[in-house]
Amino acid sequence: MISKIGLHIRLTSTLTEVIEKALRLNVPFFQTFFIYPSGKYIKFEKNDVFEFLRVRNKYFQNLYLHGSYWINLCNPNIPAYKVLKKEILMAKKLEFTHLVLHPGAATGCKDKTEGIEFLAKALNRICKEEQDIKIILENTAHANSSIGGDINDFKILMNYLKYPEKILYCIDSAHAYSWGYDLSNFKRQEEFIKLINETIPKENLALIHLNDTNEKLSSKIDKHCIPGKGNIGKEALIRFLKFDEIKDIPILIEPPTIDENEEKLVLHELNKWIA
Ligand SMILES: [Zn+2]
Repeated sequence: MISKIGLHIRLTSTLTEVIEKALRLNVPFFQTFFIYPSGKYIKFEKNDVFEFLRVRNKYFQNLYLHGSYWINLCNPNIPAYKVLKKEILMAKKLEFTHLVLHPGAATGCKDKTEGIEFLAKALNRICKEEQDIKIILENTAHANSSIGGDINDFKILMNYLKYPEKILYCIDSAHAYSWGYDLSNFKRQEEFIKLINETIPKENLALIHLNDTNEKLSSKIDKHCIPGKGNIGKEALIRFLKFDEIKDIPILIEPPTIDENEEKLVLHELNKWIA
């Protein structure tokens, strides 16, 4: 069976350890943070970078960096842009192809629309300055001033983008459910796909974060569980992945911390879902 599903791999010691784990688990691509669980940025060590790049270039095409959660581009008073540039620089050094970002929150803005305008400004600048990495915005589970829980926020954002074709999108199934899109219900699922269709151009939908959650519908709580083991459930997730709009998009899972053997079993099971 061809392995089609990518994995979020936590950085705990070296970059080489991350990429060797990806090889052992036979994933076609992976995602990571450049931050240790302690909250500190990774330190680049020459031999580690060299070995990472050697394996990276031999076995992988696309690699996804998940931007840190403290990057909030919606508020120009926070030095988020500088942090973003720092992470992009690291990503380029390690030849990551994509950077997944949460859109942020319009805290301190007069309203959500102003936050979206600030976000667009930052994205316009980044598109102009950085050509070697693709930015992917992910829908979130959060509400109130947060951008991107409501999928319609992306539509508003696009009105302010100078290079809308360059900004890509990721749909996280658990975030969608926690925000209030009932993906466990077939009819609601169809409505959600219709909304995606009307909002995000097909060529800009770049990634599916296939996650499930034990949190309630509309709870706005971002807590993942293994796909099929939560409130969305196996049957509904399999159905979701079969929509024409979804079926050819790269899929990556972000399970809670489980041991490597369990990760292997989960990946094997999920690859069967889409085989
Ligand atoms: Zn996600």
